[in-house]
Amino acid sequence: MTDPQATTTHDEAHDEAHGGALGSRLNWLRAAVLGANDGVVSTAGLVVGVAGATDDRSALLTAGLAGLLAGSMSMAAGEYVSVSTQRDSEKAALAMERRELKEQPEAELEELTELLEGRRLSREVAREAAQQLTERDALRAHARVELGIDPDELTNPWHAAWASFLAFTAGALLPLLAIVLPPSGWRLAVTVVSVLVALAFTGLGSARLGSAAVRPAVWRNVGGGALAMAVTYAAGSLLGAAGA
Ligand SMILES: [Zn+2]
Repeated sequence: MTDPQATTTHDEAHDEAHGGALGSRLNWLRAAVLGANDGVVSTAGLVVGVAGATDDRSALLTAGLAGLLAGSMSMAAGEYVSVSTQRDSEKAALAMERRELKEQPEAELEELTELLEGRRLSREVAREAAQQLTERDALRAHARVELGIDPDELTNPWHAAWASFLAFTAGALLPLLAIVLPPSGWRLAVTVVSVLVALAFTGLGSARLGSAAVRPAVWRNVGGGALAMAVTYAAGSLLGAAGA
């Protein structure tokens, strides 16, 4: 197997050496921000759409709450499925590695040596390192160097599911409360303004965490949310007028 890391630049290799734990923490944080963003946009679109058709608080509350639960459970289920699948394929890769180590240890030692050489070690040093790693824990060495996974830290699908459930719920609560709490004349304005402000922050946060340009990310995010609310409000108004 070829090593995808072998072609990284010096800086990337440097970051990677320090960044294992930090990198995965940033990924979690970024997923949380994106999940909250989803909760804000989809629930805002839903309650603003219903507000286009009716001014009834209990209808708004029902719609918002149903949207919150449906969205957060669908996010959690999707995350559970995708992380379970990833975990299964990582386990399968580990099992194959274990078998290869048992059946062809020489070839595996050579493979590990070449992978380490690809990380700018001389042939001799790579050989020495590969031998030591193999003696200590061959499977772990191959898992990390060859597959890029830590056999003790496979992502737990339940953790991932809970995290997206909570992130989506946190985001969804904002438009839900904003449409239900204010007096009826203020509902829409309060919801639209607070949603757009929240989307500016989540756009900012995800751009920062992903090291992307901040300003276009913020505008795209705010614009997407504004469009979602405009479309559902228009649809709700049409339906409300037709039903009245
Ligand atoms: Zn191997």
